[in-house]
Amino acid sequence: MTYALVIHGGAGARPGTDYTKQKQDMLRLIIAGQTMLDEGRSSVDVVAWAIEELEASGLYVAGKGSAPHSLGGFELDASIMHGPDRRAGAVAAIEGIISPIKAAKAVLDDGRHVMLAGAGAQFAAKAAGLAEVGDPQEYYSEHISHGSKEDVDHGTVGAVALDTNGILAAGTSTGGTFNKLVGRVGDTPIIGSGTWADETVAVSCTGLGEAFMRANAAYDVSARMRYGKTDIDHACQQVLDEVKRFEGDGGLIAIDAKGNICMPYNSDGMKRAAVSNVMSPVVRVFEPEP
Ligand code: ASP
Repeated sequence: MTYALVIHGGAGARPGTDYTKQKQDMLRLIIAGQTMLDEGRSSVDVVAWAIEELEASGLYVAGKGSAPHSLGGFELDASIMHGPDRRAGAVAAIEGIISPIKAAKAVLDDGRHVMLAGAGAQFAAKAAGLAEVGDPQEYYSEHISHGSKEDVDHGTVGAVALDTNGILAAGTSTGGTFNKLVGRVGDTPIIGSGTWADETVAVSCTGLGEAFMRANAAYDVSARMRYGKTDIDHACQQVLDEVKRFEGDGGLIAIDAKGNICMPYNSDGMKRAAVSNVMSPVVRVFEPEP
């Protein structure tokens, strides 16, 4: 039975930084995710579960590890997409909810809308019974360990999966870029920019969101594969070249319908891990693919 899972913890890895904890965390998740897929769990459930775990760890700039915006508050973005019918859910600039990806999944499951923003997203998440942040300054205290505000460490998290029923799904969650203005929304919650899944490919992006939005990056991987008959590796590389044209650094993770995996980046490194029915778990930050 074919299945595959890739996760990322952001493309802003800085040389000289010790990412041992992140690597251990990703290995744990990729092994547990493999078991879930092997047991027949759906790709959208495994994607949501993996991202929720990454958010809760505080090891990335997403969920608990998010950094503050220009006024000192915390606005988070997330999205998730189910390939075959292109159902999707997204939340933008959501505040006070522990797991933005669960909020995005609640939007998907509800089905009336694709994206909710700000107070409306928060209202819907509370109505769905999702856990709330008590004291934001205390809950989001981890961002200090990511470095000074001058650092540009893209620490968005994401996951893409192909399940044993041949269904692709993708999701992404972020605290955004360092020093972002209050109200700024990046590529992460935008279906087609930061996240995309259809019957051809599932994609989750990380990097300078403004450039990924201009390139409509995640959807463009699929467009290049479907219209240009390009394989996943070339499609991903061409999209990253486009992102570069808009002065963006970053990376993406992708799985196609056959279970082929691709995880390129044009930054110094990208925290990432992958597994499939034909590939043992791999965890990488700076090292090239085997
Ligand atoms: N893409 C995210 C954003 O622009 C940042 C990141 O990947 O770290 O909000």
